[in-house]
Amino acid sequence: MRKGKGKDAAVKAVVVLSGGQDSALCLALAVRRFGADAVAAITFAYGQRHAVETKYARRLAKRFGVRRHKVVRLGFFGELTTNALLDHSVKICRRKGAKCPTTVVEGRNAVFLQLAAVWAKTLGAAEVHIGVSEADFSGYPDCRGAFLRAQERAMRLALDWPVRVVAPFLHKTKAEEWALADRLGLLELIRTGTVTCYNGVPGDGCGKCPACLLRRRGLAEYLASR
Ligand SMILES: [Zn+2]
Repeated sequence: MRKGKGKDAAVKAVVVLSGGQDSALCLALAVRRFGADAVAAITFAYGQRHAVETKYARRLAKRFGVRRHKVVRLGFFGELTTNALLDHSVKICRRKGAKCPTTVVEGRNAVFLQLAAVWAKTLGAAEVHIGVSEADFSGYPDCRGAFLRAQERAMRLALDWPVRVVAPFLHKTKAEEWALADRLGLLELIRTGTVTCYNGVPGDGCGKCPACLLRRRGLAEYLASR
């Protein structure tokens, strides 16, 4: 992995790093493009059920040589909204008539992007990277391109800073992401060194929750096509 030289290299991008497959690959791409010293990563501890995510995010930042990594605590989501990621008593499912499953954290990406952009401005970085996909998503409204474009515009106005939202997987399926990870020589790292599972089981996960099913289906699809 190519790394930037110089201790105080200008930061080009802030990557939202959850510790999952998508954000890990997103970080890898940013590091390849700019060098590790020109990339910062931000992880949000928002009361998700599994602290293991932040542990994996820290490991990933270290693995990719990203020294500027912040874990920001946002303890308030659970006070404002209820969902299966914040509350163990909520069953992970898609309720009848609901557009998205009970795992949606309302407004999460809007808050994450806004805060990442604040840090980007502080660091002088023009880009905020996020690993969302609307091709293979669970119906989350804040994973759509229309939202990202609107959020980018709102953040530019809010901060008076020409920030750009970069979402490299917006139109990619999970299988395409696995193919990309493999091309970069990161298939095993992404497979074992990330946690996507809603039950907090690292690597290949619990195999039962919707996040695991999506991830596994994508991997199987890619491996079958290889
Ligand atoms: Zn799972």
